[in-house]
Amino acid sequence: MTKSNVVLTIPEPGRSELAERPYPNFLPGYAVIRNEIAPICLEGSRIWAEHDFEFHDDPEHLGHESVGVIDDIHPGSGFRKGDRVIVFQGDHCGQCHSCRNGLSPTYCVSNLPDHGGRAMIGIEEKNDSESGGFAMAKYRIAPIANLYRIPDAVDFKYAAACNCSLGVGFSNQEIMNVRAGDTVLVGGIGFIGMGHIISALYRNATVIALMRNPYRRGLLEKMGVQHFVDPSDEDWLEQVRALTYEEQGVDHSVDGSGVPFYQEKLMAATRAYGTVNFSGHTPGAKIEFSPLHHVIDPAHQLMGQHDVRARDREHLVRALTNPDVQRMIDVMVTHEFPMSKAGEAFDVQVSKQCGKIYLHPQL
Ligand SMILES: [Zn+2]
Ligand SMILES: [Zn+2]
Repeated sequence: MTKSNVVLTIPEPGRSELAERPYPNFLPGYAVIRNEIAPICLEGSRIWAEHDFEFHDDPEHLGHESVGVIDDIHPGSGFRKGDRVIVFQGDHCGQCHSCRNGLSPTYCVSNLPDHGGRAMIGIEEKNDSESGGFAMAKYRIAPIANLYRIPDAVDFKYAAACNCSLGVGFSNQEIMNVRAGDTVLVGGIGFIGMGHIISALYRNATVIALMRNPYRRGLLEKMGVQHFVDPSDEDWLEQVRALTYEEQGVDHSVDGSGVPFYQEKLMAATRAYGTVNFSGHTPGAKIEFSPLHHVIDPAHQLMGQHDVRARDREHLVRALTNPDVQRMIDVMVTHEFPMSKAGEAFDVQVSKQCGKIYLHPQL
C-alpha cells in the first residue's frame, strides 16, 4: 500500500474537512516530518470565522506551527529518521541577511512576498510536491535548517510551545533584553501574550497584566501572575505606576491585542527609554502615531518581530527543560483535539475561553 497524506481544509467559513493527498515529494535539504502536534494560531480566528487569508495560506493549506518525528530524509543531513523535531516555520535560502545572521525565517527572502517569496506554499512548489507545505497535515516538508532536535527529556507538548506562544515571546524578549527585576506590562492577552508572560516569569521579571477576560485572568493567576489592572478603570495608569520602581513606569510593555485601545495605554505606561513591543496584529487596525510624542519625547524603543530568531532557538529549548516553564505551559494549553475534530477546536478558539489549543494531526 502506498503511503498518502491527510490535510485539513476549511472549504467554507465554519466548516472543516479532511482531504487525502499524495505523500510529499522532497528534495535534498528538506525532510518529511510526521506531525504529532499542530498548535492553532490564526486559523482559529480570522480563517475559521471569516475565510480571511494571507498570501501564504488558503482553504486547503493551513497551519504553520508543528512538532513531530522525521519520517523520511536524504542521507548526509545530520538528522535521522525517527528524530523528534520542532519545525520552525518557513523556507530557508541560506544566503540572505536573515539566514546569514540567525534571524527569524519569516524574514528570509524565500518567504517574503516583496522579494518573490512564497513562504510555505513555495516549499510545496520548490519540492514539486502535491502536499506537505503546511502543519495541519499528517506529513509536512520542512527545510533541515529550520528543524531543531528535541531533547529526550522534553515532551512534544512543551516543544510545541516554541512557535507562536512561548517561542515568539521568548525571542522578542531577547531583543528587548528583559532581565530579572524588570517590570513587564502585557496588554490584550491571548496565546501570544501568555507566551510573553511565561518568558518574563522565567526571567524573574515582575508581570502586570492589563486585561479584562476573566477566564484568561484565571489562567494567569495559576501561572503565578500577581498583578492585574483593568484597562477600563479610570485610574488604570496610576495603578500600573504604583507597581513600578519609584512609580517610574514599566521597563517594558508588550501588546498582544493589535488594537489602539491597548497600544496607546502600553506606550503611556512605559518609562523613559523603555521598550514597547508589538506582538499582536488585528486586520485593519491602525494607530495614530506621532514620532515626537511616541518616540522622541519618551525616548522609547518600539519593536516587534514575527516568530523566533534562529540564534534564540537553543536558549528557548533550554527553557523548556525548566519544571516551572513546563508547569506554565500546562496551564496555557487548555484544550487538545484530534485534527479530525478541528472544527470543535476552532469554535473554542473563537470563544476566547481558552489559552493555546493543540491539534493532533495523526488522530
Ligand atoms: Zn534566507
Ligand atoms: Zn502562529
